[in-house]
Amino acid sequence: MLGNMMFQPLLISSMIEHAGRYHADSPVISKNTDLSITETTWGKVHENSKRFANALQALGAQFGDRIATIAWNNHRHLESWYAISGSGMVCHTINPRLFPEQLVFIINDAADKALLFDKTFLPLIKAVKPMLKSVEHYICLDAPDASVAEQLPDVQFYDELIAQQPAAFEWPVFDEQTASSLCYTSGTTGHPKGVLYSHRSTVLHSYAICLPDSLNVSARDIMLPVVPMFHVNAWGTPYAAAMTGCTLVLPGPGLDGASLANMIDAFKVSVALGVPTIWQGLINAAQQSGSKLESLKRNVVGGSACPPAMLKAFKEQFDCETIHAWGMTETSPLGSACQFKAKHQHLSDAEQLQIRLSQGRPPFGVDLRITDAEKGTHELERDGRTSGNLQIKGHWIISNYFGKAESALTADGWFDTGDIATLNEDGFLKISDRSKDLIKSGGEWISSVELENLAMGHPKIAMAAVIAAAHPKWDERPVLIAVKKPEADLSDAEILDYYADKIAKWQIPDKVIFVDSIPLSGTGKMLKKDLRELYGNALL
Ligand code: AMP
Repeated sequence: MLGNMMFQPLLISSMIEHAGRYHADSPVISKNTDLSITETTWGKVHENSKRFANALQALGAQFGDRIATIAWNNHRHLESWYAISGSGMVCHTINPRLFPEQLVFIINDAADKALLFDKTFLPLIKAVKPMLKSVEHYICLDAPDASVAEQLPDVQFYDELIAQQPAAFEWPVFDEQTASSLCYTSGTTGHPKGVLYSHRSTVLHSYAICLPDSLNVSARDIMLPVVPMFHVNAWGTPYAAAMTGCTLVLPGPGLDGASLANMIDAFKVSVALGVPTIWQGLINAAQQSGSKLESLKRNVVGGSACPPAMLKAFKEQFDCETIHAWGMTETSPLGSACQFKAKHQHLSDAEQLQIRLSQGRPPFGVDLRITDAEKGTHELERDGRTSGNLQIKGHWIISNYFGKAESALTADGWFDTGDIATLNEDGFLKISDRSKDLIKSGGEWISSVELENLAMGHPKIAMAAVIAAAHPKWDERPVLIAVKKPEADLSDAEILDYYADKIAKWQIPDKVIFVDSIPLSGTGKMLKKDLRELYGNALL
C-alpha cells in the first residue's frame, strides 16, 4: 500500500522559488570582475533567473542541453545557474585554470551548446574558440562592452539578454532524476571525467549540508563561499543559501587573503568555506593588517587535510570554529563533517583538537566503510586504527561517469574514493593519504599528510609538501619540499631535528628541498604529481 502524501519531484527550481518568495529581501553581495561591488537580493536573483531562462529559450536551447560557465563566484553566475538547471538544462561549470587543451576536451566531450564567461576569461575563450565543436552562443556575463565585442564578434551580453525578456517564467516540472549540473574531476591521470549530478541528488545534498551537524546553515548566516562555483558547485553552498535564505557574499576574483579579510569585515561574514591554501592566505593577511575577523564564527576547511596549526590559529587568534569536512567531486561533495557529539563536549582542549583534526562523520544520507586493499570489498574494523580503502555510498554519490556506460562502483555497489583512511566506532573518519601519495618505505607505509602537517606547524614554514622519492634500498623514502616564511632563516638540519621528537625515526624525511613556491591545482591543492615528476629522483 502506498502512502497518501503529495508527491513533488525534488527540483532545483523549487529552491530559487523559495528564496524569491520567503527571503526576497535577503542580500546577495557580489564582487564584479572590475572589483566593484553589486548589492542585490534573493528576490532580484530569482527574477533575473527567470528572465535568463526566457533568454535561453529564445536562443533555442532545449531541455537537456549542456550550458557551460567559466566564471567567478558572482551574482550573474548565480542567476544563470538557476535559469539553466531550473529550465531542465545542465549547468556545466568549468575550471578556468585548466590547461587550454583540457578545456577544449571537456567542452567538446560535454557538447556544450552555449558558453557563459566572465570578462576576465576573454583571452582564454578567444584562444580555444576555433577548437570548440558544439558551442553556438558565447555570452559574456556583463553589461555590453565594445572592447569585448571587438575581440569576439558574435558575443552576446548577459545584461542585454535579460533586459529584453519578461520576468514571468513557469519553471517546468520533470523527473527529479533529470541531470542538473556537470563537473569534471581534476583528472590526475588521463582525461578529466565528468560527474553528472541530478536535481534529486542536489536537493538532498543541500538539506544535508545545512544540518547543524554538518555546516549548520540558517537564515541568520552571512555566508562567503570562497570555494569556486566550478569546484564541485562551490560545495553546494549556492543551493544551501537559497534553501535557507541566508545572506550570500560572493568574492568574485578577489581570492587573496587581503581581499577576503576585507570582504569578511565589510559584510560581517559569519561562515566562510574554502581549501587550506585559501585560509593560509587569510590568516597571513589578517595577522598583517591586525583584523580580528570578528564576525567570522565558523570556517569550513575541505579539499585537503586541515593542518593542526591552522585549526589552532583560527581558534586562538580569531575565535573562529573550524569545521573540517571531507568530500570529492564524485560525492557532491559532502561525505563527512567534523562536529562533536554530546559526549565530546566536556573533553579537554587537547582531546577536542584531536577530534577536530579528523574529517568528521557522515551525515544521514551517506554511508562510509573501509576495505582491504587486496580483497576490495572485504570490510575492515571500525576501530580508529585499522586503515584501508575508503568507500562511500548514498543519495548524492556518483554511479557512473558522464558518457560512460560502465558502473563506477564496486561489485557490491560502493564507490571507491582512492583515499586511505580509518573509521572509528562513531564513524569519525581520518584520512591518512590519497592512495597514490602514500610512501612505501621498505614495505611500511608512511603518511605524507602527517609529515606535511608537522612541517606546517614549524613557525618558519609557509607551505610544505611531502612526496615519495625513489630509493635504491627502501623503494621509496619521504622528501620534504618546503617554502620558507618571508625572511625566515631555516636550515635542513633544523627542520629534520624538529621532526625528531614527533615521529618515529624511520619516518623522518631523507631530504629537505626549499623552493620559492609549490605548484597548486586549479582548485588550490598542492600538485604532488608535478612535485613527484620534479623531485621524485632526488635520492638516486
Ligand atoms: P576533488 O574531487 O578534486 O575535490 O578531490 C577530492 C579529494 O580531495 C579526496 O578524494 C581527498 O583525497 C581530498 N580531500 C578532500 N577533503 C579532504 C580533507 N578534509 N582532508 C584530506 N583530504 C581531503
